Amino acid sequence: MQGVRVFVQHNRGACIINTCRMFSTTHHRAADQRSYKLVVVGGGTGGCSTAARFCHQLGKGKVAVIEPSETHYYQPLWTLVGGGIKTFKETVRSMKDVLPKECDWIKAKVTNFDPDNNTVVTSDGQKIKYDFMVVSMGMQLNFDQIPGALEALKNDPQVVSNYAPWTVEKTFPAIRNTKDGNAIFTFPNTPIKCAGAPQKIMYLAEEQFRKNGVRDKVTVLYNTALGVIFGVKKYAERLMKVVEKRHIKVNYRRNLIEVKSNKKEAVFENLDTGEKETFTYSLLHLTPPMSAPDELRQCKKLVNEAGYLEVNNDTLQSTRYPNIFSIGDCNSAPTSKTAAAVASQGGVVMKNLGALMNGKPMSKKYDGYTSCPLITSKGRCILAEFDYNGNPLETFPIDQGKERWSMYHLKADVLPFMYWNAMLTGHWNGPSFFRKAMRLGLSDGSTKKS
Ligand code: FAD
Repeated sequence: MQGVRVFVQHNRGACIINTCRMFSTTHHRAADQRSYKLVVVGGGTGGCSTAARFCHQLGKGKVAVIEPSETHYYQPLWTLVGGGIKTFKETVRSMKDVLPKECDWIKAKVTNFDPDNNTVVTSDGQKIKYDFMVVSMGMQLNFDQIPGALEALKNDPQVVSNYAPWTVEKTFPAIRNTKDGNAIFTFPNTPIKCAGAPQKIMYLAEEQFRKNGVRDKVTVLYNTALGVIFGVKKYAERLMKVVEKRHIKVNYRRNLIEVKSNKKEAVFENLDTGEKETFTYSLLHLTPPMSAPDELRQCKKLVNEAGYLEVNNDTLQSTRYPNIFSIGDCNSAPTSKTAAAVASQGGVVMKNLGALMNGKPMSKKYDGYTSCPLITSKGRCILAEFDYNGNPLETFPIDQGKERWSMYHLKADVLPFMYWNAMLTGHWNGPSFFRKAMRLGLSDGSTKKS
């Protein structure tokens, strides 16, 4: 059966689960237990690219990806879907087309981790054993933690969110439909993926209100639980100029705690005073509270207090189990959670885990590189790139803190191509090589003071 993609249907009680997997003769398979050299949990940005990297190294049948979803999304483009610039279809591919052909895809969820026995249990009752494991489960969206939010997202066309595949297509029609009142954009009181996304859509919406001739009747509000507009000073200063110029009101330390869609009201808590404030809305863009997925958070042996898989910040190896690594949004590395960070982390894990598999010392260190293309209008973007310490780590030898057409084009057209063709195939480890090459190797592009 090697090399043949077959569809199998398991019937377990009332629950029918389809699995699509590449069978291979090189792994051991008992009735209810299979074993792999490497198990990758999650087939999103981190999982898919990791599987590709290690399939190149290890060959067929040695790598399994455990991923329940039929669909892989390029989430960074959802900002432009919400802005009416790209279509949702452009962000979607079938999981079986993006996972490497050489891996076994186990189409189920991991429900339990047993790191002491190198085993995971899946939602369809399989026990999968591994020599090494990479966990890349992303973040869980917790809309349900805001009373009224799910109901509003389902029933009120003016309550939207770019963060979920089932809501992102609502955003642009709602922006177009906004004629007056408060257009409110929220940032929750938890870590989130792409911390710039809640305000990028605000800039696109504000531009659209001007195009539609309603800007003077719409009040644009950014209600953020944070105390700053962006975590890196250089870019925060530039963004403050943008919001001032465009008469956007920023309310800091405001956390959305309830949506009353029957009254068109959003209730916020002032995180400094504890007071509640109610705003009426004509448009409400929600960014949900987020966390690591429940199945991971439950495994106290693997996670830190906040529920993220605890890794060594340099090597991305679990602090407790040397044969486990983690990439992406679900790990504890203290950097901004983005696909750009995943690319750099992927290169580090490939080197370090590869060395470990071959009994060699791990030598690669992750510097916390992450990037956020802060779109400020259709055709303009500030390309924030920085490290663990919030020091800008810019790829291009120009001031990326300026709003530029070139950076917009990179975000809208070049990066999606690179994602599908280089990143998911395991060939893109972030821009550090280009950053050095563009400076003729004389500097790493960091602006940190020594
Ligand atoms: P994901 O890609 O989310 O994949 C996680 C996978 O794990 C999923 O396929 C899921 O089904 C699977 N999974 C979950 N639970 C289980 C389980 N129990 N068992 C097995 N599998 C499981 N990044 C940028 O770099 N630039 C941007 O401009 C940008 N903009 C963004 C805008 C928006 C609106 C959003 C939503 C995200 C944006 N991002 C951006 C962030 C980027 O998409 C994520 O950081 C990146 O996808 C993280 O990759 P990951 O592999 O950690 O998680």
